[in-house]
Amino acid sequence: MRPYDIIYKKREGQELSREEIKYLIDGFTSGRIPDYQISAWAMAVFFQGMSSRETADLTMTMVESGEQVDLSPIPGIRVDKHSTGGVGDTTTLVLAPLVAAAGVPVAKLSGRGLGHTGGTIDKLESIPGFRTELSREEFLDKINKTGLAVAGQTADLTPADRKLYALRDVTATVESISLIASSIMSKKLAGGADGIVLDVKTGNGAFMKRPEDARKLAEAMVKIGKELDKRVISVISDMNQPLGRVVGNALEVREAIRILKGEDLDASNRLRELCLNLGATMLVLAEKVQEPDEGYRLLEKLLDKGKALDKFREFVLSQGGNDKVIDDPSLLPVAQYAAEVRAEKSGYITAIAADKLGLLAMELGAGRVKKGDEIDPAVGLELDISMGKRVEVGDTLAVIHLNEKTVREQIINRFRGLYKINDSKPEELPLIYDIVQ
Ligand code: URA
Ligand code: CA
Repeated sequence: MRPYDIIYKKREGQELSREEIKYLIDGFTSGRIPDYQISAWAMAVFFQGMSSRETADLTMTMVESGEQVDLSPIPGIRVDKHSTGGVGDTTTLVLAPLVAAAGVPVAKLSGRGLGHTGGTIDKLESIPGFRTELSREEFLDKINKTGLAVAGQTADLTPADRKLYALRDVTATVESISLIASSIMSKKLAGGADGIVLDVKTGNGAFMKRPEDARKLAEAMVKIGKELDKRVISVISDMNQPLGRVVGNALEVREAIRILKGEDLDASNRLRELCLNLGATMLVLAEKVQEPDEGYRLLEKLLDKGKALDKFREFVLSQGGNDKVIDDPSLLPVAQYAAEVRAEKSGYITAIAADKLGLLAMELGAGRVKKGDEIDPAVGLELDISMGKRVEVGDTLAVIHLNEKTVREQIINRFRGLYKINDSKPEELPLIYDIVQ
């Protein structure tokens, strides 16, 4: 086999065999095949696409490029959930203890934030003492004892995806449905789950801005599941505004705690609703319930009775965190300054630039401009706006939490450019567009 012939074949729109895909990817991972040939292949895939079978073969080749987590010491059907990335998206912090409280083990490998989206690992690390670097043994042991664990993705998982993603990032080949689908699925499958719920976001704060692209990605990932005999359900959900009411690491932990305590339900309703829906789907995959409705009702009951909060406490303690933050959230990092943004006119909120709010929070220090940067867990945005909300002149639209006094006016002005107030009420956006399975 020669890389040239395989690139040529894909360029002409033909289907590659499993052996050809494996030859390319293994050669790339080991360094035998140079970056420029894989770049050309990735661009050919970008234009020509791949069949479901090719996509599944690429996925498995990447899974097999590194370690795979063996979850077999955990009895039952192990389910995982993945979000394609959003703003103010604190679902895992609520969902993982909630599903675990229903008796379904949750073995979650999560990432850090990059770009305008946040990452679960960064959020959890804002809890004093919380450890996310767990050995395989610790990870399994904690799941067996408390029913859940959340750990950072380690470098030994899917090295081929890591390398390919970095190359795509600099060759304008990230936005290929087949390449995104195989990248996400390879990480989830290497994590050892039997069933996977995918939260595919669409809207201005998402990777897939347009619903039709989100649907294609959702379908591509479900098809990979079918090819590989794994149960996969994709939920297409809205990201045309931050999901929760806050953006920023410690702020999001506080919001998760409020939801688990049943406080502030109006402001956090979308986040809570999505958690209940995703959780219900996880219970279906785990065969805990027959129908999502049944799962939803079960989870709602557990949440209302404080069972998910109890599980969250166990989870924090199990991973070395200070559980006093649950009773007294002021023990979480707090920023030095708070700047209020007030409405300059009355009307309805008709647009919110979720992606730019995410970037603004990132620039305050909540995220990284480049890999390896330090983050500031305390800073972020507390929002009092949501799509369609009526506001009057002088109402507080947001509180910006920051640690640098000098940028205050500049940040307030930037914030003012990220929403629109108009006279007529906009049409309500759905929270969930569709479920693909
Ligand atoms: N997220 C991933 O993990 N991979 C992609 O290719 C895109 C988003
Ligand atoms: Ca399936």
